[in-house]
Amino acid sequence: MKQSISYIISLTIAAVPSSAFVPTNPLTSSIAKQPIILASKYDNLNNGSNKKKTSTLIQMSDTVVDDTITVSSDSVSELLGRPARPGRPLKVAIAGGGVGGLTTALCMLKKGFDVTVYEKTAAFARFGGPIQFASNALSVLKEIDENLFERVMDKFTFTGTRACGIKDGLRADGSFRMTNDSLDYLWNPDAPADWFVKFPLKECADLYGLPYTGVIDRPDLQEILIDECKKLKPNFIKNGNGCTGYVSKGKGQGVTVNLEDGSTAEADILVGSDGIWSSVRAQMYGEEIKKTSKNGKKQGCTYSGYTVFAGETVLKTDDYYETGYKVYIGPKRYFVTSDVGDGRIQWYAFFALPPGTKKAPSGWGGSERDSQADPEENLVDYIKSLHQGWSDEVMTVLDATPPESVEQRDLYDRAPELLRSWADGNVVCIGDAVHPMMPNLGQGGCQAIEDAYVLSETLELTKSTEKLEGALQDFYKKRIVRVTIVQFLSRLASDLIINAFDTPWSPHDDLGKSWKSYLTFFWKPLLQYAIFPAQFAYLYSYHPTGSMGDLPATLEAKWKKQHEEDAEEAFVRVSEDGQSVAAPSFFKIAETVMAAKP
Ligand SMILES: Cc1cc2nc3c(=O)[nH]c(=O)nc-3n(C[C@H](O)[C@H](O)[C@H](O)COP(=O)(O)OP(=O)(O)OC[C@H]3O[C@@H](n4cnc5c(N)ncnc54)[C@H](O)[C@@H]3O)c2cc1C
Repeated sequence: MKQSISYIISLTIAAVPSSAFVPTNPLTSSIAKQPIILASKYDNLNNGSNKKKTSTLIQMSDTVVDDTITVSSDSVSELLGRPARPGRPLKVAIAGGGVGGLTTALCMLKKGFDVTVYEKTAAFARFGGPIQFASNALSVLKEIDENLFERVMDKFTFTGTRACGIKDGLRADGSFRMTNDSLDYLWNPDAPADWFVKFPLKECADLYGLPYTGVIDRPDLQEILIDECKKLKPNFIKNGNGCTGYVSKGKGQGVTVNLEDGSTAEADILVGSDGIWSSVRAQMYGEEIKKTSKNGKKQGCTYSGYTVFAGETVLKTDDYYETGYKVYIGPKRYFVTSDVGDGRIQWYAFFALPPGTKKAPSGWGGSERDSQADPEENLVDYIKSLHQGWSDEVMTVLDATPPESVEQRDLYDRAPELLRSWADGNVVCIGDAVHPMMPNLGQGGCQAIEDAYVLSETLELTKSTEKLEGALQDFYKKRIVRVTIVQFLSRLASDLIINAFDTPWSPHDDLGKSWKSYLTFFWKPLLQYAIFPAQFAYLYSYHPTGSMGDLPATLEAKWKKQHEEDAEEAFVRVSEDGQSVAAPSFFKIAETVMAAKP
């Protein structure tokens, strides 16, 4: 309904000529009424004020009607650098076709903008493991496109409907008494083993009437986004030609995008969604790509101090259907497992190690291991050795993991950009390009999706190219507070969990006796009843759809049956054929595909 209204409004704007951007369907690309005549006569309109030019255009567009002529993108680009262009869509170049870039492309194509994505990798390959989408991101996806939302739901695994939270890495074997939400565990050694803290994911989603947090495989997400974009503009993406820089040409004059092959492209705006080592950001902030500056920051990104290993296994644990994701805490490290559907458990092991300490065969960038002391080292054994004395729950998952599936990545993030805008002239950065964050809250991709939506909405309301620079600054202002809070919470979560948490004190054993153990013990009620409810309530508070009523419950009920069938099938398959590596690494992403570049 909302979309229909905005479409009608857009059509009205086109019919009553003004300087607004006119939506067009790039599939037909037959822009009614104005453009060809405008293109040929525009040059005569260069004298006088912008206002005058616009009014002359209005007169012309009133008189010229041509429904049949197709405007090539070249002729459209000739129109760039003009102050106001009634009758043609806003032209957007997007650097990077990751989660943020592809969502932006779809959102903008749906609004009728003429979008081209320039992606560095030569081709999109199916790579990668699952990504968590929290309730806030699901609301944005639905608001962007119902079809997109339905297709994502078809491939989704809900975790937020089941027990998720923090467990004790040493005692989580049925004997740990710090249990339930009562104080019973303090004096009752027979109290049933349970969780240190449970996350109120379902309660917070229900508070706003939103679908529950869950995961989707990155390749599935990517395929859906690309497919939906292609329905609107078949050639919307150019692979194997990354963005190297730009020339922003000033108010209303557009931007020239420099590409790897030496060619250039013209657009009204450039969106830099080219990830953590962004070329667009490098130019915007005067950084050198992948170089370390005097203050020790690598292209403006600080090494977080943490490295993460990830792996995947098909395994029917005792609590497979009852739990979503579990964060096991212990001294100086933590271990996360999550059900990711089809009987699979994905795990992450976080360690405070110097960058480059240990590389996996399928590490980020297809990292080679020759420089390592033992390039053939079995990484599952290595990770187990760092978890000596930990719960069998952790060891069972590690034992079932094929060592060749293990991936590794050093984690970098950036301080929030409170003093520097994300926009420079007609160029703006979104997602990891400008606000990479620690993965602890699973919000990096979700925030990139929120960026995509807010940017598109802001631009839809922008009535002329003259106002684009201001609109990009408005976008920054709309996003900076929320993104800063989420960045801060993500960083705090990883710092606290590694540096301030320890095995909690218990009256029934001697495992947690450090001052951090006592602190961790006292944190429990605060985390359970104040901090986590407030955190998730805040994260989910952004939900442009509003409440979805009964839909979340309906979706979960439909999913539950299918989830069990798929999982049981996988368990049988693995019991017959053994474990196999389900998919190439998601860390293996860009550069590996680049290697295939002709
Ligand atoms: C271990 C780990 C787990 C995570 N888990 C989650 C999670 O569960 N949920 C969640 O929401 N987030 C998660 N994240 C964060 C999430 O992956 C990122 O925040 C998200 O991918 C950012 O999207 P993006 O589009 O900004 O960047 P990316 O997804 O990195 O995409 C950037 C794209 O730009 C391309 N590119 C690079 N340079 C150029 C160039 N010069 N020109 C053109 N193209 C270029 C790249 O090839 C890539 O396709 C996790 C991150 C890590 C490290």
